[in-house]
Amino acid sequence: MSAGSAGEDLTRRTAAELAELLRAGEVSSVEVTRAHLDRVAAVDPAVHAYLHVNTDEALEDAARVDERRAAGEDLPELAGVPIAVKDVVVTRGQVTTAGSKMLEGWVPPYDASLVTELRRAGMPILGKTNMDEFAMGSSTEHSAFGPTRNPWDLDRIPGGSGGGSAAAVAAGLAPLAIGTDTGGSIRQPAAVTGTVGVKPTYGGVSRYGLIALASSLDQAGPVSRTVLDSALLHEVIGVHDPLDSTSLTDPATGLVAAARSRDLAGMRVGVVTELGGEGYQPGVRAAFDHAVELLRGAGAEVVEVSCPSFDYALAAYYLILPAEASSNLAKFDGMRYGLRVEPADGPVTAETVMAATRGAGFGDEVKRRIILGTHALSAGYYDAYYGSAQKVRTLIQRDFAAAFEQADVLVSPTAPTTAFRFGEKVDDPLAMYLNDVATIPANLAGVPGLSLPSGLSDDGLPAGFQVLAPIREDARLYRVGGVLERMLTEEWGGPILDKAPELEVTA
Ligand code: GLN
Repeated sequence: MSAGSAGEDLTRRTAAELAELLRAGEVSSVEVTRAHLDRVAAVDPAVHAYLHVNTDEALEDAARVDERRAAGEDLPELAGVPIAVKDVVVTRGQVTTAGSKMLEGWVPPYDASLVTELRRAGMPILGKTNMDEFAMGSSTEHSAFGPTRNPWDLDRIPGGSGGGSAAAVAAGLAPLAIGTDTGGSIRQPAAVTGTVGVKPTYGGVSRYGLIALASSLDQAGPVSRTVLDSALLHEVIGVHDPLDSTSLTDPATGLVAAARSRDLAGMRVGVVTELGGEGYQPGVRAAFDHAVELLRGAGAEVVEVSCPSFDYALAAYYLILPAEASSNLAKFDGMRYGLRVEPADGPVTAETVMAATRGAGFGDEVKRRIILGTHALSAGYYDAYYGSAQKVRTLIQRDFAAAFEQADVLVSPTAPTTAFRFGEKVDDPLAMYLNDVATIPANLAGVPGLSLPSGLSDDGLPAGFQVLAPIREDARLYRVGGVLERMLTEEWGGPILDKAPELEVTA
């Protein structure tokens, strides 16, 4: 392939294909990186997947990898493949805002541990992707810097909170991206953009350097075009980190091999009764049912499992998450990071500066959750709200334990609907929260989950298929996902992203 004509092509390649071309010396990392940066310049004004683009630094990093390769160095698998990183992950010397006015222009003095791993793997960082403010939301409409648009239909949301990472991959603006998933923010955006997203086992990827939303739920993970690509990236970032006390001690292994599996003989697949009934769009459900049939055809034994406590997961999550978030966000006080606003009149004290800064710096959804969280934690209400939610959390963990006695993996639609239109749910918090009804149980129990496209719904938009596995059994996600993806791609006659409409060049 000649580099000149390859520009457009390179932005449609999988990370595995790019890695292969780079290894064979058919393209350079500078060419691959530049192809993506060119496409960002051309179409991202319309999509707005990125908040910040690191043109010069990404090209310098790419040139350095090319030099090392030319010198005959033995490089890591993904060396030279560029990547986009959600703006909730701190990057040294590069603005990191978490989608909030509170951190506008803030330049972190250090790298998150997962970013250190990306750099060690020789992956140029293209830029930072848009998100709902502090990762609160399911549509990116809560970003302080304007929403991201879904590449499948620019009038629709790309999911959230990591809509920027998912849209970047779907639109060919990055071959890979990093997301974070506290209640579904990797998997739900993947579902509505036709991409693959994985929430590893809690502790599987270091949280050091993530701007914390809810520390007991937060987990970073890959977003990609294919299951294999997510596995490749997962193995790069899934390593032990002494800087995170909840980091698992053994690294994630066998994921890439699992993603290359050919069959599911002996695998018991459990369809979760509670995740798929009322409220699920018929086209989403139909694509899901079809995928389950394919799994059966690949040798899986399909069983129905019931997890009755899942019906309370959403309610428990919206107490636990705000409680933890209200504590984590207390550090944004006008003294330490980013924005500082002094009161218009009256005395300038720590309290008045804090009130003025937080009033100006936080958006409505963030304020809503801080108020909810501090209320749930306050004396007299703690047991009734936070305490009850923690009990539900235990019941959900028990449901998972019982379900994994009957099945090796659990499956459901990832999100109840396809991408909705801007404005449809943004003024109705409960309607917005319901998008995560199927993804939240995994975060409450710490189990890993993967979303891959199951097909197009009756409205022509992508639907997601979710696979869940027991703690530390992330490889099972890739085995099921890899086999299903191969069968579906064959049916579609090619990758689902090739069916997305061409984006117009706007710059
Ligand atoms: N949409 C969910 C929320 O608003 C999930 C957020 C996330 O995973 N970061 O809390």
